[in-house]
Formats: sequence, structure tokens, C-alpha cells
Amino acid sequence: MKIKIGTRGSKLALIQTETVCDKLRQAYPEHTFEIEIISTKGDVVQNRPLHEIGGSGLFVREIEQKLLQDEIQLGVHSMKDMPAVLPEGLVFAKAWPREDPRDALILRETPSLQELPQGAVIGTGSKRRAFQLLALRPDLRIVNLRGNVDTRLRKMEEQKLDGIVLAAAGLHRLGLQQRITQYLEPAQMIPSPTQGFLALECRRENTGLLQMLQAFSEENAETTAQAERAFLREIGADCHMPVGALCTPQNGAFRLDALYGREDGSRLARASVTGSDPQRLAAQAARRIRSQLAGTVCLVSGGPGDSELVTVKGLRQIREADCILYDRLSPAELPTLAKPQCEKIFVGKQNAHPSMRQDAINRLLIAKAMQYDKVVRLKGGDAYVFGRGGEEALALREAGVPFSVIPGVSSATAGLACAGIPITHRGIASGFHVLTAHGQTDALADIDFDALAKSRETCVFLMGLSKVGEITQRLLQAGMDGQTDAAVISCAATPRQRVCTADLQHLAKAVEAACLPSPALIVVGGVVRLRDKLNFFEKQPLFGKRCLVPKIGTRPAPLAQKLRACGAEVQEVTVGEIVQIPAALSAEKLQAVRWILFTSRNGIDAFFASLQAAGLDSRSLANTKIAVIGHSTGRHLRQYGLHPDLTAETANSSSLCQTLGRVLSLSDTVWYPKAAQADHSIRDVLAAFCHFEELPIYENRPVPPKEFDPTFAASCEAVFFTCASSAKRVLQALGHVPAAWGTQTTVVSIGPKCSAALRQCGVASILEADSASPDAMVKALLAQQKLQ
Ligand code: SAH
Repeated sequence: MKIKIGTRGSKLALIQTETVCDKLRQAYPEHTFEIEIISTKGDVVQNRPLHEIGGSGLFVREIEQKLLQDEIQLGVHSMKDMPAVLPEGLVFAKAWPREDPRDALILRETPSLQELPQGAVIGTGSKRRAFQLLALRPDLRIVNLRGNVDTRLRKMEEQKLDGIVLAAAGLHRLGLQQRITQYLEPAQMIPSPTQGFLALECRRENTGLLQMLQAFSEENAETTAQAERAFLREIGADCHMPVGALCTPQNGAFRLDALYGREDGSRLARASVTGSDPQRLAAQAARRIRSQLAGTVCLVSGGPGDSELVTVKGLRQIREADCILYDRLSPAELPTLAKPQCEKIFVGKQNAHPSMRQDAINRLLIAKAMQYDKVVRLKGGDAYVFGRGGEEALALREAGVPFSVIPGVSSATAGLACAGIPITHRGIASGFHVLTAHGQTDALADIDFDALAKSRETCVFLMGLSKVGEITQRLLQAGMDGQTDAAVISCAATPRQRVCTADLQHLAKAVEAACLPSPALIVVGGVVRLRDKLNFFEKQPLFGKRCLVPKIGTRPAPLAQKLRACGAEVQEVTVGEIVQIPAALSAEKLQAVRWILFTSRNGIDAFFASLQAAGLDSRSLANTKIAVIGHSTGRHLRQYGLHPDLTAETANSSSLCQTLGRVLSLSDTVWYPKAAQADHSIRDVLAAFCHFEELPIYENRPVPPKEFDPTFAASCEAVFFTCASSAKRVLQALGHVPAAWGTQTTVVSIGPKCSAALRQCGVASILEADSASPDAMVKALLAQQKLQ
């Protein structure tokens, strides 16, 4: 039989493969063995750190391809280059005895690590080596170095590096042991998992070859290799992370020393465990490492749909989180309240593939906890009410990751409240049952319908929309009165809330006719009757109205919050960002200024930023009076400890000019810190009465509207423009004025300038607020609604 052995073409790879080949030839002279050199991506791309070009696996993928296609029968690699999990169908032969697993330091001129001069430069491409070296000698400078052994030795000379770190095994195999200055003992530097082992990879079904290879294997070597590889899998490391493991036989058992760290080296953890089972050793070591290194995972209850129903404690966790995992049921706005640098991961529908998906989420949670200090798992409703929160907490505990749980508002009770149904009521229901219609097996089989039918307590079913017919049927069969009141509440606590009520025997039909979407709750019991009187939610003045709020900046718009408080469904879309333009201010210049005008919060913020940058504070405004366009700008000014001397009678620029014009004299210097692109209408009026200077102090820069949904914009009930620039930008993004604008869609403008811009863009029918504030805009819309 002819057996082809695939290998990379580096000198070391060839020597390793030849050694294997020679042994096989000697032992099995009846077979022919032939070496085939295969070039891999890792060999071709030499100039970038491994983790940037695809990491572990780079040196093996092409060889594995050929194995799977049976073009070659055996692949010989350095085992440490092998990914933690092999492709389906491939296996390793039992491990052969190991070469020296240690790392070795080659120094150009110095006899030892300790004697290296301060700030000496060491080359290595491995984060594991770099961070461990820095732990020993924090003063060292590490530079990235890649390539095979010869290349690295050459680069050390060329680049005049003080030293490099390499695997002792490779140097030994190449006959270069005399170049080694110092072996780094595992106490100083834990080697890469399986460093010094050869990996002999072949197809699982090639049992003949596997047996031939096994003749050279060694039991202890196999256990050690297994333990180190199991650790790699357990810890879930990818090549971005510094990871090390060394298993050694000790007093008839084994000792596993393991290392793992944060990607940026900010934290490194070590663990040593002893035992005899490689999988258990690995699991124990991983657990110990996690408990040192992992941040905390907080299971935050997000509430049933309205982002304001999260708890104060939960919101704090969201704001502080470095990473948030959220799903379809958690309120969509909550992740947007996190820090800008927070990583947000959507973990999707949970019931698509229940068991597999949950397992993947658990693993992701653990992996993210290793990467960040604060991870939030944001759940809908209460984390422990049917959300599989308990399973996540158990998985974290099992993995040794510290966790906490923030309880919250469950749809099971709050959803009813928003539908106008108190879950208990004296004389009607003295208690309640909350049940799931969906579980690991057939959840309905676990429900004692007989007991429910007899009880006079409210029954709430979650995850039951698709089974409403079956549930009502089972209750009726168990003897519950067909006239019992019942309801299905869809999208509770949101502006899309819809409720369908009927008596028990007609509920399924009514729900089918109403086509209610999920998520939904089924409620059965006399308390449903109270909805007639207690339904406050759907009576909110803007309940269910869809509103578009273009805004500048990414923070939640106060206007959007006010609209939501009236029951509206609001889409906020960022169309611009504020960039401050530093102004050169000085105490002398300010002394000469009689009045400063502010017409926006942004103007105030940018002006005070420049003041601070000039080393000044508000005392330099002692001789200056301040005028503001309206009360909300005035309130903002007060945050800087200053009261406006003058506020326009109505919040618009012509009123400001009029009010101010009355008190100005020709010798007065007036400054107006404003947006760079804003018009000159104030200057044009006031320049005749004083010495007027504009101070372009910020810019409202357009940003491409990312979350913009043109269909929503064209079909919503109201769109709100709070500045001329957002009007222009939204209409530019739309390309035309939607037909519904002015008829089904009310276009609300904050004031005359904004209205003028809208008219210029072709919007004919505009509802203008009577003063420039979010409250006035909401008031204008409400007044218009009343008229209709
Ligand atoms: N932990 C969640 C429940 C998760 S199970 C909680 O405490 O609310 C998912 C089920 O919850 C859905 O199938 C639905 O029955 C219910 N649910 C969650 N949010 C809902 C909402 N806004 N309106 C109606 N039902 C909701």
C-alpha cells in the first residue's frame, strides 16, 4: 500500500515529517511512504501577526482538505498549531513521545533574561509569550516577529533585537540547541498547549493506518496531550487570546498548569490542578481560571416591552455594561442606553432551536465574561419567569463565572395591568396561576387542568398563542364554565398592544379572527371583566400613533420620551451630529462684550467648552449680560450656574430680536455663539442697533441616517422636525415628499425657520408649534387630534 504523508515545506516541518516517515518505513517495509509538500496560507502570508490573518488553523487547512479527499493519508503537524476542534471525519493518532515542551530564550549578547538591560527589545509573535515575559520583566519592549526559525534568527540579527523566544522542541529538532541561551521553566512561562507534540492526523475510518501509528505511541503522552487540548476547548480560546497549558505526570497522576489572559494582556490568570482524568483536569483548570479572570454577568430583567419598565437597578447595569446580549423579547430601546463602546450582541429568537440555541447563548455568555468586566444578559420580562434565565445562571455557575440577577417586571402580571386587568381582585380572584404552554416536552401535559377548572383564581398562560384552542378546550373539558371571561393580550405594555376578549368557549375563534401577533398572554378569569372600566393604557392620548423623530446626536431625544409617555410608538433617527468648533476666547475680549445671545443648548455647551479650554470660567462673564431664545435654553444655561438676564417673549428669533432690540445701545458689543451653517437673520436685524459679532462655535454635521425606514416615514401618523437641517436631510433621504404627509401624516415643526425649510422642500401642510420646545410640539399635535 502506498501512503502519502502531507506536510508544510518549512525546514522544521520537513525534518519532523521525515522522522515520522523513517520510523514508519523501518517498521512497515511492506508499505511505501511518500512525502508531499503542501503550501498553506500561514506559509504564504509572513508579514502580519497570526491572529490578524485567521489564527490557528492557518498552517493546516490545506493539508486537512487533502486528507478529507484522500489525496494524502497522513498529515504531520506541530500539534500546537492545531485548532481545538478537528474537522468532522479527521482524528489524531495516539500521541508519540513529546519533545521538550519548554520555551527557549535566544539572546543576542546577554547571558540571561535577568541580565537584559532596561527596556531591551524582544521579538515574538505570540501574545502568550509576550505577556508572560512582561510579567517577569515589565520594562521589556516586545516587537512582533513571525516566520520560521531561520527567519526569526536572521531578523534578530538584522533588526538588532536583544533576543527572541522560540519553542525548544523546534530548535532541538533542527539541531540548534546550542543557540539557546536559557530555557524558560514552566513556573516562569507556561508553554503553548501541546507544544513539543507532533500531530499525526488522518481520516477516522483509516483504522489500518491508525493502528500502525499507534505502535509508537505512549500512554502518558496521550493523556497529557488530551488534557492540554481539552483545556483549549474548555476555555474556548481563539488565537486572539494568550493561552498556555502544560500537563506533566506526577506521582502516578497528572498535574495541569494552565494560563489564560485577556486579549490586551491587562489580566493573566494561572491555575494548577492535579488528577488523572484529562477532561476533568481541563474542566477544573478552566473553572479556576474563569473564577479569577471572568467579569460578572448580570441577568437583567428588561420588563415586558416598555423600556421604562426596567428597574432602576437594571438600568444602571445596562449603562455600565461593556457587553450586552439581548434578544427579541427584551425592550428594543434598552441596549441603546448603553455606553457607546459597549458591544451589543443580538442572540435572536430563542425558540427557533430551543436546546441548541440556548447552549450557544450560554457559551457566548461565558466567553464574553472572559473578555469583559461587566456583561449584561438582558431578558424580556422577569429573568426567571420562563425566560430560561435559571439555565443561564446554572451554566455560569458551572463555568465558575460570577453572576447576579436583577429581578423585574414580568409580562405575566404587568401585561395584564396594561390591559386594564388586575390579576387579583377582592371578591373575584384571590390568587393567580402563571403557566407556560411551551416547555421541554409537551407542556400542556404537565398542567393540571382539573385543578385550574375548579379554582376561582386567575389563570395566565405564557407562550400559548398558537395553542389557545387547545388550552380553552382542555379547560372546558375539565369543567370550567364556558362563559368564564377570557382575553388574549398581544404586545402588552407597548404601543402595539391589542387585546381580544371573549368568553372561554368563544376565545379561540375570536383570537383567530383578530390575527393577534406574538408575544401574547392568555388570561382566564372574572378579573377580565374589569377591563371595561380600568383600561387606561389604550386611552392614552397618542396610544398606538406612530411618530418619526429625526434628531441630532444619538442620545434619546426628550421629544421622543414625551411622545412615548403619551402612548406613541416612536422611531428616532439620527440625521446629524454636533461637532464643537473651538473659539479663541480671552478675558480681555470678554470684558468688552455687553451681551451674549444663546439660541440653543449646543451653542451654550460649545461656548462653555471653549471658555474652559481657554482656562476661564463663568466669572469672566461678570460684566456680560445673557439673552436666551426661550425657557428651555434658559434652563440649560442654569446648569452652568448662570441665570439669563433676558428671555424672548415668545421662543423664536424675531421675538428675541425685538425684546433685545429694546435694551441695546449702539456702543454695545453683542456676541452670538451659533451653528456654523445657521442663517444670519438675527445679525441682519440687530447689526443696526449694536456692534454685532457672530461666533460660529459648533457645526451640525450630517450623518447618513442608519436606522431610517422610509416606509415608516411615509406612513406614520406624525413626523416631528426640530430644526431646519433635519427637515432638509430627511427629505433628501426620502427623495420626495410622501403623499400621506399633510393628510394622514401630520408634519409638526418647531418654529418658523424650520417651517420655512420644510416649505422649501415642498411640504405644504405644516403644523407649527407656538413656541420652540418639545412640550409645545406635543401640545400642538394633541390640540389638532382633539379637533379631528
Ligand atoms: N420572562 C418573560 C417571559 C418569557 S417567556 C416575562 O417575565 O414576561 C415568553 C412569553 O412571555 C411570550 O410567549 C409571551 O407569552 C410572554 N410575553 C412576554 N412579553 C410579552 C408582551 N409584551 N406581551 C404579551 N406577552 C408577552
